[in-house]
Amino acid sequence: KEELNIIQGALELRTKVVEEVLTPLGDCFMLRSDAVLDFATVSEILRSGYTRIPVYEGDQRHNIVDILFVKDLAFVDPDDCTPLLTVTRFYNRPLHCVFNDTRLDTVLEEFKKGKSHLAIVQRVNNEGEGDPFYEVMGIVTLEDVIEEIIKSEILDE
Ligand code: ADP
Repeated sequence: KEELNIIQGALELRTKVVEEVLTPLGDCFMLRSDAVLDFATVSEILRSGYTRIPVYEGDQRHNIVDILFVKDLAFVDPDDCTPLLTVTRFYNRPLHCVFNDTRLDTVLEEFKKGKSHLAIVQRVNNEGEGDPFYEVMGIVTLEDVIEEIIKSEILDE
């Protein structure tokens, strides 16, 4: 029974798109690019429990410019109050973007290639009067795809 479910889940990767499984931007734990890695911020990052944290510029949560890996904090002393930018510039983690209508089997292939296992999901917004523009909708990770295959939540440690 369970095997059948998994096979079905795997087959459905061809019909589902990232928009259906993403974590919406409003639910993302992110940091402002001008943040300072003091004790309060580092504690908040650790408390969030996430291993990768998108970094946005200005007041625009849509404007994701970097990604911080929590392991990048290994050499950061909160007492030094290091600017976040110093760390993100040093590691310069690549940002990986996908469109909202990308099929899950396609993102899975991308993730398998070993780039980042987290992608920023964008869509083309052509609703208003003005020119169409790219709009960030949220993030998708390998775990979101695997959950579709096994059809159940993976609880975090
Ligand atoms: P982690 O390794 O940080 O636990 P996973 O890749 O295992 O992240 O993803 C677990 C779930 O958390 C997924 O649904 C993913 O979309 C979501 N997620 C990952 N990073 C963040 C973040 N910074 N803020 C909010 N949700 C996130």
